[in-house]
Amino acid sequence: MNQGRMNAIAAVNNFKPISAPLSFAETRATDIFGSNVFNDKVMKAMLPKEVYKSLKRTIEKGEKLDPTVATIVAQAMKDWAISKGATHFCHVFYPLTGLTAEKHDSFLVPDGKGGALAEFDGKMLIQGEPDASSFPSGGLRTTFEARGYTAWDVTSPAYILENPNGTVLCIPTAFVSWTGEALDKKTPLLRSLQVLNTQAQRVLKLFGKKVEAPVTCFAGPEQEYFLIDRNFYYARPDLYLAGRTLFGAKSPKGQEFEDQYFGAIPRRVLAFMMEVERELFKVGVPVKTRHNEVAPAQYEIAPIFEQGNIATDHNQIIMHTLRSVARRYGMACLLHEKPFAGINGSGKHLNYSIGNSELGSLFDPGETPHANAMFLVFCAAMIRACHKYGGLLRATVAAAGNDHRLGANEAPPAIMSIYLGEMLTDVFEQIKNGGAKSSKKKDAMHVGVDTLPPLPMDPGDRNRTSPIAFTGNRFEFRAVGSSMSIAGSQVALNTMLAESLDYIATEIEKKTGGKKAGLNQAVTEIIQDIMKKHEAIIFNGNGYSEEWHKEAKKRGLPNHPNTPAALPELTKAEVIELFEKYGVLSGRELHSRQEIYTEFYSRTIKTEAALTVKIARTMILPGAIRYQSDLAATCANMKAIGKEYRSIALDDVTAKLRGLQDAILDLEKLCAHEAKDALAEAKYLCDKVLPAMNEVRRWADELEQVVNDDYWPLPSYMEMCFIK
Ligand code: ADP
Ligand code: MG
Repeated sequence: MNQGRMNAIAAVNNFKPISAPLSFAETRATDIFGSNVFNDKVMKAMLPKEVYKSLKRTIEKGEKLDPTVATIVAQAMKDWAISKGATHFCHVFYPLTGLTAEKHDSFLVPDGKGGALAEFDGKMLIQGEPDASSFPSGGLRTTFEARGYTAWDVTSPAYILENPNGTVLCIPTAFVSWTGEALDKKTPLLRSLQVLNTQAQRVLKLFGKKVEAPVTCFAGPEQEYFLIDRNFYYARPDLYLAGRTLFGAKSPKGQEFEDQYFGAIPRRVLAFMMEVERELFKVGVPVKTRHNEVAPAQYEIAPIFEQGNIATDHNQIIMHTLRSVARRYGMACLLHEKPFAGINGSGKHLNYSIGNSELGSLFDPGETPHANAMFLVFCAAMIRACHKYGGLLRATVAAAGNDHRLGANEAPPAIMSIYLGEMLTDVFEQIKNGGAKSSKKKDAMHVGVDTLPPLPMDPGDRNRTSPIAFTGNRFEFRAVGSSMSIAGSQVALNTMLAESLDYIATEIEKKTGGKKAGLNQAVTEIIQDIMKKHEAIIFNGNGYSEEWHKEAKKRGLPNHPNTPAALPELTKAEVIELFEKYGVLSGRELHSRQEIYTEFYSRTIKTEAALTVKIARTMILPGAIRYQSDLAATCANMKAIGKEYRSIALDDVTAKLRGLQDAILDLEKLCAHEAKDALAEAKYLCDKVLPAMNEVRRWADELEQVVNDDYWPLPSYMEMCFIK
């Protein structure tokens, strides 16, 4: 039996609950929650009243930060952090790799007398200067000017990250080049929130709504992941280097029993989940739901939705925590979109809405006709936005890992469409036809601010095959990959929605001349107009079906089946125009992103290809040859004792070995190739190299089905997914 399997079995059998540093029995969850966050309660207690108020205005209303305030806040933050045992502070930022980056600095400075003082002033809080040369910038920064700056994001609270050996004060920051260009995922997100607010406020004003707090977006990302024993993980170079298995025959049992989804959670996994939650509670991440997912060894964790920027930071913390706590429990958390072929991959459903604490969700129909009319307008804006910029939205989820998932009949198709549900679609249809039909007709509906009846909503009506599904008070964008930052899709959604709200506000203003009287009529006309032009994006049927692919083509909806096809969307003229118009991303910033993501894609495939060759040649071939020689020895032995013997098994293994060797040679040949530019290279890797990798895999997986299990060098799907 292979060593990895033995160790894993021992780990599962010998697992004893690890006593957590904090127990829920001793300290209640409500006391733990936020205990390591420099939150409102701490600020109120530690800051002078005026400073507190000024900071709150910056956080809540986006007012400019007063530098003298920063100095006082820094002092309080330092005292608070040191009282929690912190020795270092760290500007946390989110480079375009999609990962979280940290630069730690000690509080200590020599006092000149042989001792040291703890120091942390306003400047250190507001700005950091990590060497940025090793982060991708896509031409935004020349190497001799490697400086990048991190700038304090006042709106996302600082927190303490505990470690048995020391504790760090973490400060969420934006990461920009010396020219002020965004090198990260946070900066454009913050910019997009501003324009969303501006345009949403205009529409609200037309409806006579005045709100104090800015309109923002809310995000509730449902995070899927796999969890396997760490002994397996380290026995598989493809997993620890590429994050996914490049080989592996199907397990005789997969997910077809449907016994995993919402099933009882295995003991060690549950212990892990509880520890994850405890860690997340401490840093104020409101995790709510945990359950088994569809595939064996797959799980989900979901927080309660939060303001988009905070939800994004928190999702990064969730991913980090999942990985690090898994280690403590002898397991490895796989966040890759497709760790195992043939069973479901992992996504991250992004539940998305806009609004604020006063208004709630603007995608919520509400009780009164007035609220309903407003809802329909915001909903129409979403319809128009997704139709105009569906390709862009698709590009925000384009990456090598997610290519295995999108369109593979387990995740939404790569074609962007909106599911509204029958009833809401019907309402929009009626409004669209209302103007044309005789208004006396009974079922013709007008968006009267006073006359619209309460909308019948059916949030229970779910369509799992739609990439953008309306679910009662929000849209669920299901195409995000499990390992991705949720920033990119929100940046796109916020900005394209802002553009549609801008359009709608301008049209209403034109039609009504700013007067209240014509509002009903104007709103009806605009919704009619939007429906006529953009209803092609609405689709309530089965997104997995062949017919939909044909139908979508007829409707002119883009279908980008893979990353190299999708990424050019980022620099289309209308996309650059959109982002530049609202100052969210410049043409240069968009080009840099496209370049970086294309390069990532190519690097990923190249690494996988090299790894495929390496594993096939140095692990799988030798194992299979050993078995082949056993069989040959048997033949020789039989002959030696005078028996006529022909081994079918030997013929079979020999043929498969030949197939594998040829496939390896083909792949190697294809890998030695120079493309003319980055995009051409990505396309080449996608069209030529990936299929050749799959061919190597196909032969290897066939061998796995026949070779002596003792000789097989890699832990199998069966054991990785079912020994837990
Ligand atoms: P399901 O699996 O049925 O889709 P979950 O309960 O797992 O639902 O996840 C739903 C997610 O949507 C949660 O994170 C929840 O907080 C979030 N959510 C609920 N209402 C909103 C809203 N108005 N805006 C954004 N997210 C929301
Ligand atoms: Mg869910």
